[in-house]
Formats: sequence, C-alpha cells, structure tokens
Amino acid sequence: MDIVFNCPNCEQELAVDQSGAGSQIDCPACGENITIPPSPGKITTGSLPAPPAAAASAINTSAAAKVELHLKVPVHDKPVASLIGKAKPPLEALQKGAGRRLRIRTIRRAACIENGHDLFDDKVSAFLHEVGEANLVSTHIVVYEQFDVGVQKIMTDYGILVIYRG
Ligand SMILES: [Zn+2]
Repeated sequence: MDIVFNCPNCEQELAVDQSGAGSQIDCPACGENITIPPSPGKITTGSLPAPPAAAASAINTSAAAKVELHLKVPVHDKPVASLIGKAKPPLEALQKGAGRRLRIRTIRRAACIENGHDLFDDKVSAFLHEVGEANLVSTHIVVYEQFDVGVQKIMTDYGILVIYRG
C-alpha cells in the first residue's frame, strides 16, 4: 500500500510506497526536503474495508476521493413528517337525505271516500310508496271532528300525518 500525505511546505499531495516510510525525499513539487511520515495514511488505517485494487490507486492520487471516504451517510434523527391526511368531506354531505326538505302530508280518511268506498288504506299505502321508506321520517295518527253533510251531524274521524323528506 502507498502512504499518502501532504508536503508540509507546499501542501502538495504525495503518495509513496509504504517501504519508504520514515525516509527523506525531495518534494517533487517544491523541492523541499521532507520526511515521509512513518504511519500509514488515512486510507490505509484498516478501519475501512479495503477498496478494490483499481480503485485504491485512484484514491491514492485523488484528494477528492479521500474526502469522500470521510463522508458519512446522513442520519435522520427525526422521522419524516407524515403526509397530511385527506380533508374530510363536509358533514352535510354525509347526512341522509341531504338537500331534501322536511315535509308533511296529512291524509284524512273522509277525503278517501269515493263512491261510498273507503280507499283510505289504499291511498296511504300509495303515498308511502311514493315517498319511499328511506325518506320516511315518522307517521302520526290524527283524530278530528267534522260536520258530515250526509247525516247532518258532527262526526269524529281519523287520518294520518306523514313526515318525510322530499
Ligand atoms: Zn512540496
């Protein structure tokens, strides 16, 4: 292996065979008489895996490569911030029957008499089918009195009040 060091006079990077450690040479750049350091250079400390032979010679003559050996892999001491979650849809959009208004329909039994036939059940059933079960909010029985012209008396009758969305 080569010893890589810098000339103490001109800072020229020099590489010599390890067998020349401790000997004195004249710097080829500035001519100053210098002593080759006895200890191996940074890249021959053995603390790093030996690079391939082809790369080793390149490293010995490349200051940039020596610097690269001392670069450390960046370590994140904090986890990467998680992505911001998707915005939730507006609450209104989640509500059942959004965009529909609450409505009521009152169906009196007396209004369902046609030609003497009581069609109350049929008409209520038809209306409920029209509203649809998903839009049905509630139903309420209504009891009322009205003057029956047929019998000329006040009669008690009943009907249904339907609350729905539509
Ligand atoms: Zn020199």
